Amino acid sequence: MINPFRLGHRGDFGIGSRIAREEAAGAKRAARRAQSEASEVDDRLERLAMTCEALWTILRDKLGVTEEELLNRITEIDLSNGALDGKAKKVSVSCPKCGRTIARRFPNCMYCGQPVMHDAFS
Ligand SMILES: [Zn+2]
Repeated sequence: MINPFRLGHRGDFGIGSRIAREEAAGAKRAARRAQSEASEVDDRLERLAMTCEALWTILRDKLGVTEEELLNRITEIDLSNGALDGKAKKVSVSCPKCGRTIARRFPNCMYCGQPVMHDAFS
């Protein structure tokens, strides 16, 4: 005799439901992991901000650097990538040998193979 609880629509629904529950559990774990990583990034950002503030106050108090000089330098660094966009990251650099534009993520020029020195903040 056919068991109506094992076959047919109810059975398919059960398998689909189990798969959906497993997927939901996986998504929950991934969300928790992402939340934890975001929290770690927040903590590191907070420590970095405190370090920047400490360094800034040392420069101000010991060397007499003014806030205007600091803001001008921030603007200068911001503009160094070609746009006043609140970002300092340079996307590309010119090869010192062939002059072609290459992505900063490569240690060597992809056209001529010349090793490319990147600055400390790239
Ligand atoms: Zn090159």
